[in-house]
Order: sequence, then C-alpha cells, then structure tokens
Amino acid sequence: MCWHGREKCENEDKFIHIDHLYKDTGFAATALLCIFVKKTRMILLDGRATAAQIQEELKAAVQLRKDAGQKIPHLAAILVGNDGGSVSYVTSKVKACEAIGFESTLIRYDETVPEDILLEKVESLNQDRSIDGFIVQLPLPKHIDELKITQAIDPKKDVDGFHPRNIGNMILNLPGFLPATPAGILELMRRNAIPTEGKNCLVIGRSNIVGTPLSIMLGRNSNPGNCTVTLAHSKTRNLKTICKEADIIIAAIGKPNFVTADMVKDGVVIIDVGTTRVEDPSRERGWRLVGDVHFDEVAPKASFITPVPGGVGPMTIASLMMNTLKAMELKGK
Ligand code: NAP
Repeated sequence: MCWHGREKCENEDKFIHIDHLYKDTGFAATALLCIFVKKTRMILLDGRATAAQIQEELKAAVQLRKDAGQKIPHLAAILVGNDGGSVSYVTSKVKACEAIGFESTLIRYDETVPEDILLEKVESLNQDRSIDGFIVQLPLPKHIDELKITQAIDPKKDVDGFHPRNIGNMILNLPGFLPATPAGILELMRRNAIPTEGKNCLVIGRSNIVGTPLSIMLGRNSNPGNCTVTLAHSKTRNLKTICKEADIIIAAIGKPNFVTADMVKDGVVIIDVGTTRVEDPSRERGWRLVGDVHFDEVAPKASFITPVPGGVGPMTIASLMMNTLKAMELKGK
C-alpha cells in the first residue's frame, strides 16, 4: 500500500501507479489508497561489474600483504594445445592475476604432449612451494586421461575445485575449494540479493564442473541455497513443462539459444552459463559468443538475467582468484 502524495512509495520501482484513473473520474481528492499493477522489471546481472568489485577487494588484500612483507598469491596454469576457447580463458586468467597483483605462471605444451610429461609437471607444481594454486585448463586432448590428471593435483592447490576430494568436501559441506563456475554463480546471486529460499530451481546440464555441483550447492541449507532443485539433462522428458515451473533456471548445456520465451514463466531468474562460438561475419574475428538462453526473447519475462558474454564468465575467473588467495591463506603464509 502507498499513501500517494504523502510519502514516497517503497515499491515505487516495482509497480506502476494507476491512481490517475481516480483523478480522471473525479475521485482523486478522496482517494488515499493507490492501486498498483505489478510489472516485471528485468535486472541485468552484470558479472563483469561484480567481478570488477571482487578484483578490487582482492587487490586491497594483496596490498595489505605486500605492506606487511608477506607472500603474494601465485597461480600457475597449464595449457595444452591451441584451442581458441582455452587460450582465451587462460589469457583472461593471467590478465586477472596481473590486475590484482597476484603472481602468475603460464606453462604451455604442444597438443601432442605425452600424458606422463603432463603428470610430471603436475607433480612438480605440487612440490613447488612458491606456487599456491594451479589449474590444468580443460578439455585436454583425447590421448590424455583428464581424470588421471585432475586426481594427480594436490587437493590443497586445486583452485579449480575439480579434485574428487574437493568434490566430496563440497557434497558434505566440509571446507575445501568449490568449483570455480558454480561458486562464481552463487557469489553473483549473493551479491545481487537474489532470493533463493524455497524456490524451484532448474539446472539444465549435469557436467561435473558446472551442473552437478550447482545442483548440490543450491539445494544446501545456506544462502544462496535452500532451493528445491531439479537437475535436467539430455534424457529429461517434458523439459518445457519443467522449465515453466522453475523460479530459477540455470542453463549449462552448450546449445545456443536453447531456452526460449515460451519455456519460461514471468519473473524467472535466468543464469546463462553457455558459451558457444557461432560464426558471425559482421565481427572482425568472424565469431561471437552465444549463450544457452535466447536473451532477446527471454529477458523481457525475466526478473534477473545474465548476459553472454559478461555474466558467468567473469565470475568464474573472480572465484578462481578468490580460491587462489584462500589456498595461500590456508597454508598460513
Ligand atoms: P558439457 O560437459 O558440455 O555437457 C552438456 C550438458 O548438457 C550434459 O549434461 C548434457 O546432458 C546436457 N544437455 C545436452 N543437450 C541437452 C538437451 N537437449 N536437454 C537437456 N540437457 C542437455 O557441460 P559443461 O562443461 O558444463 O558446459 C556447458 C556450457 O557451459 C558450454 O557452452 C561451456 O562452454 C559453458 N561453460 C561456461 C563456463 C563459464 O565460465 N562461462 C564454464 C564452464 C562451461 P547429458 O549428460 O545427458 O549428455
């Protein structure tokens, strides 16, 4: 309710006043109560801005350590091959380190590197006391067993949070490193005060690095969390019906524009994880990144929505940086 004309309506930004109807009909002088028509106002979840805010906080933490003569966090990244997506992700991670003041080391191998050479490198990074955390950029070439490489990483340096011990800790809500993308998404929701308690949350895609951990984290007794979670995948039936019932949809499929307006309800919260390169001759580089959600169609129905690019991607990097600082602090350096 709002006493129009006497004080500012606290819901001003969420409702359209229709009190002029009273004015037109001569009831304005006596009508104290405003009637509102609810309208949906979409809020863009700007991952770039939120990640920049986190970077500033990390920068301040690094400066404090520098001033106290303490060690600066050091992140290493192993990159195998020249896949365009992987090269640009790793480059962004190195740039983020520079911006924050972390030390970084990039180790590159040719596409044909044998698995045992990679395992040796992982072991040497495990032993290297100057390195606080490291990642092996996935996917790896087919001749390399990704699980074997992931399992070889010291869980205390596993800042991507992919090691089975960190995944186990995550499931049991024990201390450890949370996988970077799901942790970044939760941080984005937390900092934008998105209500999650009691909400129906649909996660589409069940990968080990995004969908499955997200489904667990959002179902936990925490904030963000306490959702009733549905985890959908390629064998899910009646996905459209399930989508329509969801208050929150997190799409992590890798299929451009998969979620369309007819699949979502008004006021839905949309987190779009998908990043697929699609040909675009109008761009100098010949491609652009497209998400799993048809943004132009869905945005008008959404209460919150992430863009692609500029939504989940920057938050993934921000949470990797937070994990790196944490890795160093846990060592008590
Ligand atoms: P993924 O390993 O590529 O697996 C795709 C998932 O989508 C699978 O679980 C698959 O189901 C499911 N799926 C495929 N078609 C489907 C359909 N028609 N209906 C419902 N589910 C379907 O997953 P990912 O590694 O999480 O990657 C997903 C997307 O997120 C990709 O575009 C990737 O580039 C992007 N990504 C972005 C970030 C970031 O920081 N922005 C980070 C990671 C990933 P099945 O299990 O049944 O095959």
